Amino acid sequence: MRKTVHNLNKLYKSAFENAGKMTKFLGSYCVDHAFDFHYGHRIKIGKLFTNELYPIPLFCFKLQGIKTETFFDVYTSKNYIGYIKLYPNKEELLSFNLEVLSNLKYLIYGFNYQNELYNSEDLTQTKINIEKSKDTKFIIYADFKNLEQIFNIIEMLSVRPNKRFSMANYKCECGHYITIESYNGFCPVCGKDSTFKRKFATKCPVCGTSGLKDQYGNGECAECGWIFDSLGEERKDDVIYPNLISLNKAKKLYSEGKPFEPDLDEFIEALNCYSEMQFEYNGVYYAVEFVPNGEDEYDIELYNSKTGEAFIFKTTDDFKNNAKVEGKLLKDIWNDTTDRYWLQ
Ligand SMILES: [Zn+2]
Ligand SMILES: [Zn+2]
Repeated sequence: MRKTVHNLNKLYKSAFENAGKMTKFLGSYCVDHAFDFHYGHRIKIGKLFTNELYPIPLFCFKLQGIKTETFFDVYTSKNYIGYIKLYPNKEELLSFNLEVLSNLKYLIYGFNYQNELYNSEDLTQTKINIEKSKDTKFIIYADFKNLEQIFNIIEMLSVRPNKRFSMANYKCECGHYITIESYNGFCPVCGKDSTFKRKFATKCPVCGTSGLKDQYGNGECAECGWIFDSLGEERKDDVIYPNLISLNKAKKLYSEGKPFEPDLDEFIEALNCYSEMQFEYNGVYYAVEFVPNGEDEYDIELYNSKTGEAFIFKTTDDFKNNAKVEGKLLKDIWNDTTDRYWLQ
């Protein structure tokens, strides 16, 4: 028994390692996925296949709307670590670019009649077979020998989004463990909307474009870049994190076709709100922060990240009128600064 457990641990180790890499990769492409086990798999211990059935880990997700599963076998060899199955309907299969699978040896068969329709020599014949088939649902099946083969397919069939959202893990009502990474997560097994669904329609208060916000009211306008924030919408003339300018100022700048950049007064207002700011001038980053002065009060410190020099100002007015960088008054060169932002 002890030996069997030891052998099993060894067998499962690589399957779980591969599954771990797989979930990370799916995450980097924001592909919602369910982790599950496929039962009823015969595995090899030592040289023999067991008669018992063991579960193997699998992921279920969708590629271009087609249900896809990857199975990580515990029995592996130089040319085999698992298999992939895609379940397209006839229409999806006929428009599917089979070239994407060209690095795998795959089979296509009809879901109900189990006829093999694939002819590796002749994709045209394969297409004719599919068209003539009585089946409406199909399975594309392929063994894979390394994760890269699967990663390539995901890469070719999905788009890596430029904005990431924090992922959420939960157990769906259907019993599957789900990881959602996308804006509009749903269970890839049963199709139920995720309770962490982040898609709520909203209108940008600056430019009026329809957009999406999450369950906390956060999101960003794809048109003008305004970051949705309920407090900022209430206090239209105040600078409120995470935006660096007030809502009304943003509206004015948008109507003038200008970027949402804070002037020095707004920068100081943001500092009052957040206590730590930054800007860049001539390739050097400066931090502006409130620092305790030992008398239960706060001074403003201007810190040069290159030289390590720090200058202290008693009040925001003192800072506004007297702060200097490279011997020049900050208020005079403010328009030449860049990357004015919350301290990173
Ligand atoms: Zn579900
Ligand atoms: Zn907008």
